[in-house]
Amino acid sequence: MIQFQSKLPSGGKTIFSVISALAKEHNAINLGQGFPNFDGPNELKELVKKYLDAGKNQYAPMPGIIELRQALANKAHYLYGKNINPDNEITITAGATQAIFTIISAFVHSEDEVIIIEPAYDSYRPSIELTGASAIPYELEGPEYIIDWEIMQSLVTAKTRMIIINTPQNPIGKTLKEEDMLKLQSLVTGSNIIVLSDEVYEHLVFDGKKHESVLRYPELYDQSLAVYSFGKTFHSTGWKVGYCIAPHHLMKEFRKIHQWNVFSVNSFVQYALADFLTRKEHYLELSSFFEKKRDFLTYAMGSSKLKALSSEGTYFQLYDYSEISDKNDIDFARELITSTGVAAIPVSPFYASQRQDKVIRLCFAKTEETLSKAAEKLSRL
Ligand code: PMP
Repeated sequence: MIQFQSKLPSGGKTIFSVISALAKEHNAINLGQGFPNFDGPNELKELVKKYLDAGKNQYAPMPGIIELRQALANKAHYLYGKNINPDNEITITAGATQAIFTIISAFVHSEDEVIIIEPAYDSYRPSIELTGASAIPYELEGPEYIIDWEIMQSLVTAKTRMIIINTPQNPIGKTLKEEDMLKLQSLVTGSNIIVLSDEVYEHLVFDGKKHESVLRYPELYDQSLAVYSFGKTFHSTGWKVGYCIAPHHLMKEFRKIHQWNVFSVNSFVQYALADFLTRKEHYLELSSFFEKKRDFLTYAMGSSKLKALSSEGTYFQLYDYSEISDKNDIDFARELITSTGVAAIPVSPFYASQRQDKVIRLCFAKTEETLSKAAEKLSRL
């Protein structure tokens, strides 16, 4: 048999694939994987069909079509008061995942360290490890999951090349506040540390709070790359279109890798998105749309022994199951599927240490019918 050395020896099937396969086998309601079980706006789907039929089917320019980059620059100005040059500060990517991978490949060298805040989205660590660099985890503790910036500072060494932040954060549903951003800004200013700011849930911030983008902080922006996903914003995770915003001096380097990674992203969806972005209502209403779903699920789970932790953003909410079971969260999630017919995601795989806090993640980007059926089953526990 052919011999080779794996570049990701620790990598296996993700917990999402394991849970989804088990959910399918048992015909369970899947509140595990993070995607809506409803479609995005009809008008957007009609626009996609329109541009497909209009022959927008050949290569888009490497950074994305200018109409979409211009629409995104307008949006960044409208939301965050930031002037972005669409020519050299925005690149359209094949989802946020590709943007993250490209940023890490472009800037991280094998001897570097990258600080990630755990529980962390699962693509960060393998993307870092593929470069040969080390992922340095800062483990947050529930139920508050607050960042202590002195601890963060203590993790910084001469090798720290990058800090990855994610606000609102998957899987914990926490958001960074203005004071966090100011502390991060003062931590990195004057250093050569780059900030990768994963803002895919920028429009899913609840209870009247505002999203703290790196775009709001000029000094921080100067050494940051921010990533976004249309999949989250327009309920279309399968389209895999996202984008990266960064100052010209960083974007120039990003594009060197991007052009050999995907070169460009499917063209007709880009035209449709450029057109649709002129309707601000859709993204402005998203927070209240998902806040209602969060509240619907919390209310429906009222009599359950699963206890909701606070969710300030994303379409996830953590639930504490310590009143029900002593099992570890992976075993508990497996048992939940077979005993109640509901799939949830255990949180320990989001920590390198597999830390056990007896919490599972439920995704509430589902119809009310699905949420109430799931809550009814979970309340029987
Ligand atoms: N970052 C976070 C925090 C996510 O939750 C996700 C999607 N689950 C992504 C990035 C990837 O987004 P995309 O589907 O656009 O690649």
